[in-house]
Amino acid sequence: MLIVKKFGGSSVANKERIFNVAKRCIEDYKAGNDVVVVLSAMGDTTDDLIDMAHSINPRPPKREMDMLLAVGEQMSVAYMGMAMDSLGIPAISLNAFQVKMHTNSSYGSAKLKSIDTERIRNELEMHKIVIITGFQGINRMDDLTTLGRGGSDTTAVALAAALHADACEIYTDVDGVYTADPRIVPNARKLPEISYSEMLELASLGAKVLHNRSVELAKKYGVQLVVRSSLNTNEGTVVKEAARMERMIVSGVASDKNVARISVMGVENEPGVAFKVFNSLARKNINVDIILQSVGREGTKDIAFTVAKDDLDAAVDVIKDDMKIFTAKGYEVETGVAKVSIVGAGMTSHPGVAAKMFGALSAGGINIKMISTSEIRITVVVDEKDADRAVRLIHDAFDLAD
Ligand code: ADP
Ligand code: ASP
Ligand code: MG
Repeated sequence: MLIVKKFGGSSVANKERIFNVAKRCIEDYKAGNDVVVVLSAMGDTTDDLIDMAHSINPRPPKREMDMLLAVGEQMSVAYMGMAMDSLGIPAISLNAFQVKMHTNSSYGSAKLKSIDTERIRNELEMHKIVIITGFQGINRMDDLTTLGRGGSDTTAVALAAALHADACEIYTDVDGVYTADPRIVPNARKLPEISYSEMLELASLGAKVLHNRSVELAKKYGVQLVVRSSLNTNEGTVVKEAARMERMIVSGVASDKNVARISVMGVENEPGVAFKVFNSLARKNINVDIILQSVGREGTKDIAFTVAKDDLDAAVDVIKDDMKIFTAKGYEVETGVAKVSIVGAGMTSHPGVAAKMFGALSAGGINIKMISTSEIRITVVVDEKDADRAVRLIHDAFDLAD
């Protein structure tokens, strides 16, 4: 069997944890498997690097940022190679350059384009454990890029697809995917399995247990994932094509505090205005999430939308520059907001799901600022200070606890 095993930052946070991971990989290796290991940066390394960078330059060039952040993963793989060597096991660490992990040039959120598996195959043939840096890639100028926060999951899935691996295991600091973040909802329930579509929504809406693009890739290439803990041998959660007969109405609640709201006020109530606003944002590569347009009055209307907090400065620059083009009279920014969402494939066939969610929020005196729905999810924007309580109230209302 060829097994891809990915370990997140907390799983390699210190020497003991590094040896713990080494031993788990060696077990599979000794059982006769080909083992490819993908690692994240140790503990808070990536956050620390970002803090230091911002202390030097509050808006550092994205290229330099990726040059910096790629360091974290390179440390982990080298330490792991050393740990395995000290345990008498042949292993080799490789970075994105060495495995020709090609991405586009969107520094900070690069998309994988291709992986050359030749080097990995050669090393596996020589019976080595191959340890690969997660999160990083190279673009066509041979510059280092990174895939976005949490991107090591995506590296692992991409490698599993490219190598036609028999298993792709994502090891983290919780036992699997839960009905909500167990740090926010202590009695959340572990899901034995979840469909790609539901997991993709949860991940995109803030459940950072998996990088959303890793789920997208897994779905596209049919890579079945197992999410489990690196610290015990409990069964994890299988992420795969929907298999259950009975679909859960709601499979999980997610929240995302990395959100800011921008309102563009007093734009003319005529065709093409929304196009102009979102076209300008798209041209600067800014992802817009929930959009709310007010009812027009006296020939004008307001358009409000959310962006990731990291994109806020860039989005405000666009709005300021293009105010005249949008015919806007002003704009407002709100940062203390969060998104809270429910996800469930069974939602479509059950009326009253939204009412139940809004009822839970209303009972808790939590004001809803924006609402957005799709077939399998409902998202509300609330005050950031209410977000955790909102998650717990909704989790209770749908009876998701253990
Ligand atoms: P890693 O460093 O291993 O990649 P992350 O910190 O990126 O780990 O992701 C794991 C964390 O995701 C957990 O510690 C947990 O707090 C959080 N999380 C958020 N939502 C969920 C969920 N629905 N199920 C499990 N964990 C979740
Ligand atoms: N080290 C990177 C981050 O913290 C990638 C990852 O952990 O997946 O975002
Ligand atoms: Mg992660």
